[in-house]
Amino acid sequence: MTERKLASIVTILAIKPIPGADRIEAVQVKGWWVVAQKGEYVVGSLAVYCEIDSFIPTNLAPFLSKGKKPREFEGIKGERLRTIKLKKQVSQGLLLPLSVLDMVASLLMEGLDVTDLLGIIKWEMPIPAQLAGKMKGNFPSFLRKTAQERVQNINLTNMANMDFEATEKLHGSSMTIYHKDGEWGVCSRNIDLKLEDEGNAFVAQFLSIRTLGGPSNINIAFQGELIGEGINGNQYGLVGTELYIFDIFDIDTQEYVTSTLRRTLCEELGLNHVPVISSRTQVTIVQEDLLELANFKSAINGSQAEGIVYKALDGTRSFKTISNSWLLKNE
Ligand code: AMP
Ligand code: MN
Repeated sequence: MTERKLASIVTILAIKPIPGADRIEAVQVKGWWVVAQKGEYVVGSLAVYCEIDSFIPTNLAPFLSKGKKPREFEGIKGERLRTIKLKKQVSQGLLLPLSVLDMVASLLMEGLDVTDLLGIIKWEMPIPAQLAGKMKGNFPSFLRKTAQERVQNINLTNMANMDFEATEKLHGSSMTIYHKDGEWGVCSRNIDLKLEDEGNAFVAQFLSIRTLGGPSNINIAFQGELIGEGINGNQYGLVGTELYIFDIFDIDTQEYVTSTLRRTLCEELGLNHVPVISSRTQVTIVQEDLLELANFKSAINGSQAEGIVYKALDGTRSFKTISNSWLLKNE
């Protein structure tokens, strides 16, 4: 099952020429701009849009391999969609004609999720060997995996008067520490790890957090980003690893604690919290302006930050803005 709608039927919202380009043009769908062949799409008509980080099977779009041997991910031959720049125009994702869908016309509705239908999966950075660890079990069902929707996929208009917490998005690997029914556990993004495996970076990080010790009946999970040596390029230039918390989950009520309580608890327990850009802010509903705000220097070491995560203070929604120039340089 897919976690995210990576490919769906979309309406072509706008088309603009690219200065100095005769054969290509920029096409807008949702909040994304994609470069396509001139004349291939028409404003107001429907097409299939595949988001960045989709892993596209070769049979669907063989041209993505540019005549080279396709890559392979999870046993599938294909290519990963990344952010690219063509003639100074940022292009994110892939547009395909509706004809790639073998479907009767009446089923072709805007918004239809065609990810599974097209055999598309989400590309994930493979977890390096020293992080992989030994598996105790699947990611526990009493927890929630961490994920954030991209600003390009959401409707900003109803967010004008809401209050958000804005934190720096760190580029490492997602980690969860939980305490349930008197026992501690540690998970990487997708699995529950064996605590005996002390050489594993997640487990080692957990063991180094001594303040969490002591008996208690509380059922709680701390979720954060593990950054540093050996993780996702270590743009922060750290020696060793550090964990920065971005969520605290109450397992009994199955709810995240409020931003304020999260920050207070982190302080009490001596845990690092992801850098807070603002504890209460409103967002501009102009997407380009929000994306512009995603270009800033990381509070960790001054390197270019990946972006910002916005969480509504009432807990009803959250989204991320990733810097396009960061994507062009780093992905
Ligand atoms: P992505 O990996 O791009 O899909 O973005 C979602 C991931 O960002 C989450 O699963 C977290 O692991 C990570 N992340 C990093 N920094 C933060 C932050 N400040 N708030 C929430 N999530 C974050
Ligand atoms: Mn990430």
